[in-house]
Amino acid sequence: MADIIQLLPDHVANQIAAGEVVQRPSSVVKELLENAIDAEATVIKLIIKDAGKTLVQVIDNGKGMSSTDARLSFERHATSKIRNAEDLFHLHTKGFRGEALASIAAIAHVELKTKQPQEEVGTSIVIEGSEIVSQEVVVTPKGTSISVKNLFFNIPARRNFLKSNTVELRHVIDEFHRVSLAHPNISFVFYNNGSESFNLPVSNQRQRIVNLFGNKTNEKLVPVMEDTEVLKISGFVGKPEFAKKTRGEQYFFVNDRFIKSAYLNHAVASAFDGLLKNGWYPSYFLNLNVDPQSIDINIHPTKTEIKFDDEHTLYALLRSAVKHSLGQFNIAPVLDFER
Ligand code: ADP
Ligand code: MG
Repeated sequence: MADIIQLLPDHVANQIAAGEVVQRPSSVVKELLENAIDAEATVIKLIIKDAGKTLVQVIDNGKGMSSTDARLSFERHATSKIRNAEDLFHLHTKGFRGEALASIAAIAHVELKTKQPQEEVGTSIVIEGSEIVSQEVVVTPKGTSISVKNLFFNIPARRNFLKSNTVELRHVIDEFHRVSLAHPNISFVFYNNGSESFNLPVSNQRQRIVNLFGNKTNEKLVPVMEDTEVLKISGFVGKPEFAKKTRGEQYFFVNDRFIKSAYLNHAVASAFDGLLKNGWYPSYFLNLNVDPQSIDINIHPTKTEIKFDDEHTLYALLRSAVKHSLGQFNIAPVLDFER
């Protein structure tokens, strides 16, 4: 019988991987912002046009890339962030899968300009649908600029599947919130269709929350603190009057990475028992710092879900820390049936 199995060419494999990594413009925003953070940038600019459908550009002042690395960065499984499987349990970077740039370059028109601080000149690369169109030496500031144009230009079905600009912009802003809240020590600027939407100075988390959500937010924040051997909790919960009828301002950051967890969300919600009317959701901005060895981030391509070694302890600690803070600030239900 004839053999029928074939290895897929790289550009096809990249396009398939892109389906997992890049769902919409906000996925590109997330990956590029995270790369800029991993490059130790102190100022990061995000520029989008048409909700990111025609352009997502991220400019950073980080450590840049050599010309060889610039080329390699678009290969699949090409990463400077881990060397072996063991490193997966000591992660101090956002990235490690080495597939974001390969995926993005498979489904968009990408222009990269990058320069390492110590170099006189940098590198520019144009890549379209995984094909390198040009590579040149250029004069460019230190750091990296990546423009991603015409997302899904070669996959009409995916392009048509994108939602209206209003909806896609919402996703982009959500992503911008998540990343910038996790990193108040980095300055972020956001231009939407040529006008400046956010200009966030270096600050602390409280100030960052206020800069994003308005001055009135300040008095609604209750600090949360807990320091145990397994877990360090910091951040804020919103007073009950900051609650929303939709799951709006709810953020968990585990080791500076935004994550979604229905289980931990339940822990916080239960600490608000008796304080919120039915159908209202608490706001929170909570940082959990754990030993990188006690979590697995590699369970989903977008890395927004995490597997914890000991979820039950985390749940209990989180619930009691939030309850304690609410109590300290005299925010308690009139009748506390728990005693
Ligand atoms: P990962 O982030 O998982 O390593 P990416 O595909 O996002 O994979 O990036 C590949 C590599 O390209 C990174 O490991 C990094 O070395 C380099 N790189 C990407 N973006 C930047 C940037 N903004 N500044 C410096 N290096 C970058
Ligand atoms: Mg990356």
